Amino acid sequence: MTSSAFAYIDGVLHAERVSAVSLAEQFGTPLYVYSRAALTRAWHAYADACQGRRATVHVAVKANSNLAVLNVFARLGAGFDIVSGGELARVLAAGGKAENTVFSGVGKRADEMRDALIAGVKCFNVESIPELDRLNAVAAALGKKAPVSLRVNPDVDAKTHPYISTGLKSNKFGVAFDEARAAYHAAAAMPHLEVVGIDCHIGSQITEIAPYLDAVDKLLDLVEQLEADGIVLGHIDVGGGLGITYQDETPPEIGAFVRTVLERIEARGHGQREVYFEPGRSLVGNAGVMLTRVEFLKPGAEKNFAIVDAAMNDLARPAMYEAFHAIEPVVQAPPGSAPAGVYDVVGPVCESGDWLGRERRLAVSPGELLAVYSAGAYGFAMSSNYNTRPRAAEVMVDGDQVHVVRVREEVAQLFANETILPD
Ligand SMILES: *Cc1c(COP(=O)(O)O)cnc(C)c1O
Repeated sequence: MTSSAFAYIDGVLHAERVSAVSLAEQFGTPLYVYSRAALTRAWHAYADACQGRRATVHVAVKANSNLAVLNVFARLGAGFDIVSGGELARVLAAGGKAENTVFSGVGKRADEMRDALIAGVKCFNVESIPELDRLNAVAAALGKKAPVSLRVNPDVDAKTHPYISTGLKSNKFGVAFDEARAAYHAAAAMPHLEVVGIDCHIGSQITEIAPYLDAVDKLLDLVEQLEADGIVLGHIDVGGGLGITYQDETPPEIGAFVRTVLERIEARGHGQREVYFEPGRSLVGNAGVMLTRVEFLKPGAEKNFAIVDAAMNDLARPAMYEAFHAIEPVVQAPPGSAPAGVYDVVGPVCESGDWLGRERRLAVSPGELLAVYSAGAYGFAMSSNYNTRPRAAEVMVDGDQVHVVRVREEVAQLFANETILPD
């Protein structure tokens, strides 16, 4: 369920060598806690499997865009995958390099394109012909050539949740496979674009390798056809999406996934091309937990509720995707203590969808701390201020050291940009 960076020592959950109880006492709850060791380990799983091959890893910033998290990866030599101008600013502020950054996303604005071109991003992952036109115009105005890849929709079933499956014909993402060849010809004819690669991203929380191999095969068919047409692609970007264990999923090990994909590309005679990976969740998901405190226990006729101080605004995944996050007491109940009850773990937000876990067997009492696991990806990054709730603090543990990497918001900040009407 978790990486070994989070483990119980003498019955108390620790992040590396720091007690989660002391973290909660010092920094309050809800609190996001990341482990530098876990981030580093996940990075090495990718990087080591890429060693000695023409393959590079671009961290998908949207999964966790905290500057300290990005900086840990930047120090390890990571590239980045961004989906907005804001994310580019974060990458640069965190010590990442534009020339190692690819710019994805279905709706890039002209000003975002312009900033990214001036910064010198490595590639624009373009998703439509109108976007090619816009990028060509923006590049022309700057007297530049924009490096482009087309996100092709291989129409493979990634067998994941419909909201996080992105490679099907019915999705808003990518250029349809049947239209990709024509789109490449259009791109190649635009004077301010330089066609450099091809990309796809078939979904998220994918726990099998087969859909990737299906996607790679379709991409390579197209690459071969384009080459025969005189359009030579230097890189193949297989996207992100590798799943993690939240509950009982058994995703492939990262190294095995990387090697299998690279071997397929080599076996088909494309070993000379550079391969890009864009992992998000599998780098950060199990490198973070969220700590929350039980406010009340509320027994009901049909259900018992544990009302905690974290809510859907802090961790949206359960409300948004009915996602499962393991939830455990931070202090393990001593043997012979009160029997566990079955609780829905819910937050204070005024929505029935505000829940973190359903029908969990827990031995808890009011005031106790709970850990919500696998919260490092799409956790804080998707948080909001709904119900005028200040967003949680984030800390990073490094051995026995703790660094506050985002201070808790204060209520006054939340409406500092608002004004009332004049008299
Ligand atoms: C979200 C996204 C990723 C990362 O996906 P994960 O499931 O977190 O690995 C990579 N590439 C693109 C284009 C994305 O939109």
